[in-house]
Amino acid sequence: MEKTLMIIKPDAVKARHIGHIISRVEAEHLEITGLCCLHLTREQAEEFYAIHRERPFFEGLIRYITSGPVVVGRLECEGAVEHWRKVIGATDPKKSAPGTLRALYGIDIERNAVHGSDSVENGIVESRFFFPE
Ligand code: UDP
Ligand code: MG
Repeated sequence: MEKTLMIIKPDAVKARHIGHIISRVEAEHLEITGLCCLHLTREQAEEFYAIHRERPFFEGLIRYITSGPVVVGRLECEGAVEHWRKVIGATDPKKSAPGTLRALYGIDIERNAVHGSDSVENGIVESRFFFPE
């Protein structure tokens, strides 16, 4: 089954939105086949976001994502990647459609509450990163 990776980011964990976000995952009929809570090390974060290494926001992103615990989940359904991206909304919460998780819970373009894989390929790679088979 197609897989995508969810991360409930530190701002949303701190603001006690874990329950709301997981409820939404289930309401959207995405099956949770892996779930854990952990505090990413700088090494893990830099590897996970390696594709953004040259971007101006990289350092801030790494500091943010390692600033507190996160909840990581592997979500599965047909078309999981596109479906989950639709549920979370655009990167910038100000531009996310009403009712999307980032519109509901995101603070700004950095602290945007949740992660979702951006392609079927990356859904596999990112799922393996946290849940090696
Ligand atoms: N990000 C940021 N500033 C930006 C763009 C992105 O801090 O201008 C952060 C934000 O937390 C985002 C993550 O970097 O979720 C990864 O960026 P990407 O462009 O992959 O956005 P996403 O796929 O998460 O929507
Ligand atoms: Mg991305």
